[in-house]
Amino acid sequence: MSISNKIKELHDTIPPGVTLVAVSKTYPPEAIAEAYDAGQRIFGESRPQELAQKQQVLPADIEWHMIGHLQTNKVKYIAPFVSLIHSADSEKLLETISKEAVKNGRMIDVLLEIHIALEQSKEGWDRDELLSYLAKGGHKALPGVRFRGVMGIATYTSDTEAVRAEFLYLKGLFDTLKCGFFDQDFDTVSMGMSGDYMDAIDCGSNMVRIGSYIFGSRYYG
Ligand SMILES: *Cc1c(COP(=O)(O)O)cnc(C)c1O
Repeated sequence: MSISNKIKELHDTIPPGVTLVAVSKTYPPEAIAEAYDAGQRIFGESRPQELAQKQQVLPADIEWHMIGHLQTNKVKYIAPFVSLIHSADSEKLLETISKEAVKNGRMIDVLLEIHIALEQSKEGWDRDELLSYLAKGGHKALPGVRFRGVMGIATYTSDTEAVRAEFLYLKGLFDTLKCGFFDQDFDTVSMGMSGDYMDAIDCGSNMVRIGSYIFGSRYYG
């Protein structure tokens, strides 16, 4: 199936209220343009410089999401235009995002990336670490940041029940955080990728990040 047919199929099958982020990391601008022509407007990238380069050559009404691990010294490349950062995983990174947003005269929407997978290497906040940060009120001193929700990456396994348990855990934590610390702006649960997005939606996701299913397999990332 072509990229445009994949996009149309996803737009037809993903339930209303669930946002599709087309993950275009590693794919050339031509592939993104094909998805754009099929009606897709939200694209996710995992490397700041690659994201900034693509933003320059593609239509201005694309909403660019940063989904990959973000180093503080690279926030400046995307701060002028990024629509949503999914990977806010530390106090230091949040402070940098806020500072760069203010410099650019804007607010930047962020998701708190939560560690939900078994793998040690996966990034993200641990539940307790995040709860103690929020209890101290650190998040209230960030004028350039708007907290929109949570993001998580499930364990890469064919064990569907294990993956679903991780998604349910993330949805439960989202509810706890929304209730305890945030307001109605906190409305996004970003979970689910090519291999597991239907389970994620079933478990409460309202934003899925789909790459290889749309664009084909890739070499890195
Ligand atoms: C690459 C990536 C995706 C997309 O993965 P696919 O399996 O290709 O759909 C989703 N989320 C994050 C954080 C990624 O890095």
